[in-house]
Amino acid sequence: MKTGRAGRLIVGNWKMNGTRAALAEIRAMAARDDLWVAPPFTLIHAALEAGGGRVRIGGQDSHVRDFGAHTGCVSAAMLADLGASFVIVGHSERRSDQRESDAEVRAKAHAGQAAELDVILCVGETLEQRDAGRAEAVVADQLMGSLPDDPAGLIIAYEPVWAIGTGRTPTVADVGAMHAHIRARLVAQFGDAGAALPILYGGSVNPGNAAALLAVPEVGGALVGGASLTAAGLIAIAEAVPD
Ligand code: PEP
Repeated sequence: MKTGRAGRLIVGNWKMNGTRAALAEIRAMAARDDLWVAPPFTLIHAALEAGGGRVRIGGQDSHVRDFGAHTGCVSAAMLADLGASFVIVGHSERRSDQRESDAEVRAKAHAGQAAELDVILCVGETLEQRDAGRAEAVVADQLMGSLPDDPAGLIIAYEPVWAIGTGRTPTVADVGAMHAHIRARLVAQFGDAGAALPILYGGSVNPGNAAALLAVPEVGGALVGGASLTAAGLIAIAEAVPD
């Protein structure tokens, strides 16, 4: 798994943004060799070319099956066939918009691993759940329900739903506490392998707050939405990684 400075992973999630004009951003990101970007499916092939092998390109989702009668869906095997190297599963927007369950996310993680993709598995609580004092319990439940059997190529992303696209972030103390909580669950589940899995933070990361968030113990990198749409934004976040 190719990581950046101090072993941190900086991953962009473009969501439903980007037409061919946005390939210029991927070309500019190739100034570095450690950025990861998940563009929409329509751009993956061209983004792989634009990145020239220096930008790791992945999918934002994939189906639980390799092929079949599933109109509009894309499989992990198809992503791997294109040359993609990772897939995001269980993003909160899919958990809410597509009503994806933990069991489905887990099946997607298995399919991604079977295709030899790195799998970024997202978990995170809503504001209501946090305000009710249930954030850690909710995240633990999501995690234990969604984790694949094997930790191969697995990356966890903690993304509080209320911080995504809102400009709000948890305190560094809250991020640290949640990442430690996730780490304990991973070690309980996978032993030594669980101690080594990267745990990314996601939710309104930008060049201004990245250094503080990436300095938190157990934060192994960032999953970035809005600020990843430009090369300048994602590169500035990567440059903010503390040594
Ligand atoms: C995301 O959706 O994964 C995300 C973190 O978005 P943003 O950075 O825009 O909050």
